[in-house]
Order: sequence, then C-alpha cells, then structure tokens
Amino acid sequence: MNKLRAAVYGLVVGDALGFPVEFKKRGSFYVEEMTGFGTYNQPPGTWSDDSSMTLATCDSIREMGRIDLDDLRRRFENWLFHSAYRAGESLFDYGRTTYEALKGGCGINDYQANGNGSLMRIIPLAFLDVSDSEIEAVSALTHAHPISKEACCIYINIARHLLAGQDLSAILKGLEVSAPFADLKNLEVLPESQVSSSGFVIHTLQASLWCLLQTSSFSEAVLRAVNLGDDSDTTGAVTGALAGIVYGYEAIPKNWIAELRNKELIERCLFDTNLMSHQ
Ligand SMILES: [Mg+2]
Repeated sequence: MNKLRAAVYGLVVGDALGFPVEFKKRGSFYVEEMTGFGTYNQPPGTWSDDSSMTLATCDSIREMGRIDLDDLRRRFENWLFHSAYRAGESLFDYGRTTYEALKGGCGINDYQANGNGSLMRIIPLAFLDVSDSEIEAVSALTHAHPISKEACCIYINIARHLLAGQDLSAILKGLEVSAPFADLKNLEVLPESQVSSSGFVIHTLQASLWCLLQTSSFSEAVLRAVNLGDDSDTTGAVTGALAGIVYGYEAIPKNWIAELRNKELIERCLFDTNLMSHQ
C-alpha cells in the first residue's frame, strides 16, 4: 500500500506541478513550487487527465479485485463524459485518441495515435500480478498501436524492478526492447538538448527515465521533468510515479501534497496491494 500511495501521489504531484505550464517552451519558465492559473487558469494543486485516469484505474482494481476491461472502460467514460474522478467540476486536458476511443468504444491502432495517453495512466498495474498481454489490453482500451502497448509494458517492467529495489541504470542495461525503443539504452549520456518532452509516447518514456537518471531526490526528478516544458504535466506525472516508488511517500514534499485538490478522492481510490498479490 505504501509504495502504491507513493507512486500515485508522486504521479498526481507531478501532474499538478506541470499542468499550469503545459505547452510552454523549455527555458521560457521555471517551476519550483506548486503554481496555478497558467495554461488552463485553474487554482494551484489542480491535477488533470493523467491523474483522473490513474485514479479511475485504481478504483476499478480496488472494487473488482483484478483487471476488468469493461469496468475500466466504464470508469474512463464516467470521467470523460459524466464528471467522475476529477480535481474539480470541469474537464480539461483530455487527449484526442482517448476521446475518440471512448466515444467509439474501440482503441485506436494508427501510428499517429501514439500519444502518451495510456502510459500516463498505467502505473497501478505494476502492483498486480498481470502479464504483458493484460498490460497491452489495458493500454488498448484507448491506445491500441504496438508502440503504445510496448511503452506501457516497458514502463511497468521498470517500475516492478524499482519496486524490488534495483538500480535504474542496471535495469536499463538489462532491458530487452524493440528498435523504436533502442535509445533507452543510451539515456545516461544523452544531453538535455536531445531529450524531447513532446506528447509522443516514446519521448515521454525516455524523458521521464532520463530525469530519474539525472537526479537524486523526488523533487529534483519531478521538477526536472516539468521544466522540460511542452507536455510538462504528463512528463511530470510519468516521472513522479517512478520517483515516488524510488524515494518513497515521505520524500514527496508535504506542502505539495497539502495543496492538491480533492485528496479525498485519491485516498478513496487506493487499493490494498497485499490482497492483490495473491490474485
Ligand atoms: Mg494532463
């Protein structure tokens, strides 16, 4: 439970730190605290779709005791179309692929549909005994292209090794990935100028792992991610979940957690990871 709490709060904090500066150009701003009223004119501590869909996933696992694809899809629809799982009343910052998939009832399998929309919500699966094909099926509810599905599997695989206390450099060296992900092997020597923080799922995965490799505390990792700019909330969220696992819940600055909106919802959605490991 504690590591799940660390991963989920890490993700929500990263989302909330990056949300006010989403789409801003790297170097044109610098975030070091929880701010607000930026890109979406929302108060500090507001989190977005990344957190909403992660919480919906947690809540589904909590209630169903396993991965139930129909239940997951219903909860995602409730978030997008019926105001569930939100920081406040309004809806903002949903991805086009996610919208089209949930509207049409079928995940999108185009190369162009490889935004980071399934990667940003997949972390709860690191706490379940599920196979790669189940991880892929959860991605494919919205993002059904092989690249999106592999990105989710790589991310969960890395998260599980981090949960086991392994070192990220060693994990990356041992990784077996297909050609589009080959750069993950060279992250340690990659200069910041070559780290893209666009919404492309491979970029988000690379940028997040790069931030973790380059830093040595929760706040450093998440601030490095958010300050890469562009898709700053999702890069922050994807980094924050792993940084939470590595450094623990206590390492997340208390004032950042205190400022988060709708913490009651976050608390309600967390599931008991001890029960899940026996599924
Ligand atoms: Mg977002």
